[in-house]
Amino acid sequence: MNRLIRIALVLYLVIFAANIQGADKPKNIIILIGDGMGLNYVAANVLMHEDSPFRKFATIGLSITKSIDELITDSAAAATAIATGYQTRNRYISVDTNYNKLYTIFERAQSLNMATGVVVTDNIPGASPSPFYIHHHSRHDYFEIADQIVDSKLDVAIGGGAEYLLPIEQGGSRKDSVNLIEELELLDYKVYYNFDDLSGSFPSEKIFGLLDMGSLPRASQRDYSLGKLTSIAVDHLNENDNGFIMVVEGSQIDWAGHDTNYVYLLVEMEDFATAVNTALEFAENDGNTLVIVTSDHDTGGMTITDGSFNADSLKIEFINTHHTAGFVGVFAYGPGSELFNGIYDNYMIGQKLFKLLDY
Ligand SMILES: [Zn+2]
Repeated sequence: MNRLIRIALVLYLVIFAANIQGADKPKNIIILIGDGMGLNYVAANVLMHEDSPFRKFATIGLSITKSIDELITDSAAAATAIATGYQTRNRYISVDTNYNKLYTIFERAQSLNMATGVVVTDNIPGASPSPFYIHHHSRHDYFEIADQIVDSKLDVAIGGGAEYLLPIEQGGSRKDSVNLIEELELLDYKVYYNFDDLSGSFPSEKIFGLLDMGSLPRASQRDYSLGKLTSIAVDHLNENDNGFIMVVEGSQIDWAGHDTNYVYLLVEMEDFATAVNTALEFAENDGNTLVIVTSDHDTGGMTITDGSFNADSLKIEFINTHHTAGFVGVFAYGPGSELFNGIYDNYMIGQKLFKLLDY
């Protein structure tokens, strides 16, 4: 009898522990990166908009953004930290200081048969998204990065940069006569070149939305939002019963910061907020999706020096035209979000995500 009770107790504890673990782990993970989005960028969006999605997060952390050997990081090293759980040198894309490949959360997700996707307003081979799906020692080698992207098994990729996949003879900028779009089609991807066609795509398709030769137009100059692109990507990725992981980048927030152009910046933040809203709405309905909103670094040390609560009257100033070591926020919603409270180095975001992927 005693033995039976002991066995029952052990079984109960095993099931109880498994339930606790299961409850904390999301089926889907959506990571939204506002490139260059220091804390005051978020403050401006919150001050300007009563319905800013940033107001909806209850779990908030602060991330230290340095690279392995420099206080001021670039986007490649910072995204590598988030994608792999390890810091590296500026310019490196998911390789360590000896050029060894660093295992990424996308590769882990694919090993679990989850879907993977990316949506950016930069080029798809850009420095922020690339560390999630390729490995290379220089962010500047766009053609080599594009070569690897074709084989990276992404289910969804939407952004700009068609020129890096097409030879000069066909309007691209490749000098090697290679046409990577043909290779994508051989791998059963449907390739779309404009928003209208992309919005008519079937969720069951593997898609590449190459919406521009270079990066996408500024938010103020296109008639679709990052939120719309995110919604299309989610429809596709959510077809996978094993769940999905995706990265959405508001790439040009950083460019506005480098330009110290606050009008450009505020509109890019509003565009990024549409994507945060899309992700939160999906997560609220789904109930099993973790949403993380963060940044790779601050740009320009922007701050708000005067004004009222009126959108048009914020006085915004920048300290310089470069990246800074200012904190960035980590806003988390959904199962597993509690892991993201506190102050930690950027690579801990990757390590926490790996933990949620049972690695
Ligand atoms: Zn930058």
